[in-house]
Amino acid sequence: MNTHSIYDKFVLKHTPPPSSKADAYWFAFSKNRLLVMDNEDHIDIPKANALETVGIHPVRTQYLGTYEDVDCYSAELENVDAPEGFSYIDLRKVFEAINEDMFLLAGRAKQIMEWDRDHQICSRCGTPTEHNRFDRSKKCPNCKLSQFPVLSPAVIMAVHKGNEILLAQSRRFASSGWYSVLAGFVEPGETLEEAVAREVMEEVGLEVKNITYFNSQPWPFPHSLMIGFTAEYAGGEIVLQDEEISEAQWFTRDTLPKVPGKISIARKLIDHFINTHQASS
Ligand SMILES: [Zn+2]
Repeated sequence: MNTHSIYDKFVLKHTPPPSSKADAYWFAFSKNRLLVMDNEDHIDIPKANALETVGIHPVRTQYLGTYEDVDCYSAELENVDAPEGFSYIDLRKVFEAINEDMFLLAGRAKQIMEWDRDHQICSRCGTPTEHNRFDRSKKCPNCKLSQFPVLSPAVIMAVHKGNEILLAQSRRFASSGWYSVLAGFVEPGETLEEAVAREVMEEVGLEVKNITYFNSQPWPFPHSLMIGFTAEYAGGEIVLQDEEISEAQWFTRDTLPKVPGKISIARKLIDHFINTHQASS
């Protein structure tokens, strides 16, 4: 199973070091775009001294921890143009343009930057919040409400039937031409397995069994945690939920349609199916 972790190189910390920030990585965002340094044939995450040299000063920063012993910060920028030698890129592009570690760190940084920006005042009583140095929370000094970064868990599942996999076209991504596995947000009060069974029933009208954990992936668009499962077909005929799904079919390994890119857990679930099933049914 293809699992990737940054925790052999990244150490999560909440308290920034007293030392200078000059050599730290800065994951700096203006709106939803990441500021990167352009080099001749590649791009890099900039360090603080490179940003200071070109007069970029963040509105707010948050300490993330260390990556290969280098301090990492998230930073919120005003709506400023990229200076010479820099450019803004979409977060999804970081995966291919640099590597998966930097994509995961930048996704983490973006969510923490947004939480910092959006929780400057208490949502219950309106008092300015205070940052807690020892965990990722802000506390209201008046009513004591604690606010942590928002995470929205979503289940994503590959349904198998013999040597076939169920893939569907979502109306939201219809223009991409992709077929993918089903997915949906977890509702308050349900287990992950209940969410898998409910979403498959709602979206395509099928019953499933043997729901088995696969792996998970942070998905910072805007703040999901994708929790992957495999499941086996247990009964029913495909009936589409018209508002969300435009098409759903069973495919064998040798009849697969266009599928999502390697950045996604959806692709890892499809690749897992390919690696564990015969070519024809
Ligand atoms: Zn309050």
